[in-house]
Amino acid sequence: MECETTENRRKPNLLLMGAAVLFVALAVVFCLLLQSRTSGAGAFRIRFGDGQTITVRADETRVIVIRDGKPAEEPTGEGEENVIRIENGTAWMEHATCKNRECVKQGRLNADTVGTRPLGPWIICAPHGVSIEYIGDGS
Ligand SMILES: [Zn+2]
Repeated sequence: MECETTENRRKPNLLLMGAAVLFVALAVVFCLLLQSRTSGAGAFRIRFGDGQTITVRADETRVIVIRDGKPAEEPTGEGEENVIRIENGTAWMEHATCKNRECVKQGRLNADTVGTRPLGPWIICAPHGVSIEYIGDGS
């Protein structure tokens, strides 16, 4: 009787252990996959208004319109407007209504150009108080 109960107890324990090991292994693989995904991409942080920010993963395709210090749905070409495009790991100021369009001239920002651009990880529209920063994988 004693022998049977220990035998009965051992089997589910082994199963449980097996399941636990499998679960941990899967969790580790999942975490590694997730990490390699995000670490390869990096991210951009867009600042506007009174220190508001939008963070966009570099592997996303997004068009962000900021008008008069607030996010807007569609570009209208009116007011203090900036149109930021993020595509294939690169961000740039596609359009802006500021006077000299210096921000548009600052070109493309990505992991490859960040080390050679005059402004490094930044695209800045000073008159509108809008900036794009390449923040890599960190924050
Ligand atoms: Zn500008």
